[in-house]
Amino acid sequence: MQALILQQQDNKTQATLQPVDETMLPEGDVTVEVVYSSLNYKDAMAITGKGRIIRQFPMVPGIDFAGRVRHSEDPRFHIGQDVVLTGWGAGENHWGGLSGLARVKGDWLVPLPQGLDSRKAMVIGTAGFTAMLCVMALEEAGVVAQQGEILVTGASGGVGSTAVSLLHALGYTVVAASGRVSTHDYLRQLGASRIIGRETFADGRPLEKQQWAGAIDTVGDKVLASVLAQTQYGGCVAACGLAGGFSLPATVMPFILRNVRLQGVDSVMTPLPRRLAAWARLAKDLPESFYQTAATEIGLDRVAEYAAAIMENRAHGRTLVKIE
Ligand code: NDP
Repeated sequence: MQALILQQQDNKTQATLQPVDETMLPEGDVTVEVVYSSLNYKDAMAITGKGRIIRQFPMVPGIDFAGRVRHSEDPRFHIGQDVVLTGWGAGENHWGGLSGLARVKGDWLVPLPQGLDSRKAMVIGTAGFTAMLCVMALEEAGVVAQQGEILVTGASGGVGSTAVSLLHALGYTVVAASGRVSTHDYLRQLGASRIIGRETFADGRPLEKQQWAGAIDTVGDKVLASVLAQTQYGGCVAACGLAGGFSLPATVMPFILRNVRLQGVDSVMTPLPRRLAAWARLAKDLPESFYQTAATEIGLDRVAEYAAAIMENRAHGRTLVKIE
């Protein structure tokens, strides 16, 4: 079995494929034969060394994986069971999914819900799971389809693509914000009713024309500030990302004059009951067409190349990595 191993040399991150066996794995009570992993923005930052995601080397990256239980000391999991893992620090401070074998805490694993296999679970991956958490946040804020359009920023990325597809399937009218004209056909296929450019969010005024009943923001910075200023009275913005930067140059005006809610979304430490609910919803709500339209499949040997493409905004949709 092989693993992608990250090491540091002269302050640069280097990725190499190396053989891995059970004796090398970190502590944990469940060992999993990984079938698929995927590449998320955070993986791309870790593998290219562009973000300080990893602090101890050598490290196996991969913040998510799906596979079969090979050995378990946790009574909740049995040999041969299909499981999925996202977050909890895997691929950051605990060896992650870009490896034939992974050993983790049973507490971190979710049994694959009916309707999903390892491949589908990793077409979804951390990005898709996060998109579902964002959709649930909008629902919990009372945003319903009749109130108007829902905006998704960074729409052609992993979180954005899944959010567009999910919202469309749930009956919302989805507006996709994308910085690339080349992604327009793809976004329409996923269910976007119209597409607007990133430059739409350069205004910078505290309040702008009210447009969105709700929004899912994966970009942050000026884009998020402008989205808040454009959100309708009583609307909700679910913010999960920083693809455009981690600042938030906003004012309190949308909150105090328009009752706008800004809901943060974290997928890494999401408690188990909410994880189970989100995965069950994904299995039920994502249309079958999503798995064909949004997925690009690669092998471990092409991970470094695709990580660079993600950082340079040349990839779209979800990149899944076949391990077995
Ligand atoms: P992707 O790289 O797949 O997508 C990001 C998208 O953002 C791109 O496709 C692009 O969309 C847009 N984008 C890229 N660069 C810029 C820029 N400089 N300015 C504005 N827009 C830009 O990443 P993911 O979908 O995997 O993740 C999206 C964000 O969400 C990341 O910041 C990630 O860290 C975060 N995230 C957070 C999670 C959490 O738990 N809170 C979990 C998962 C992800 P387009 O070309 O269409 O404009």
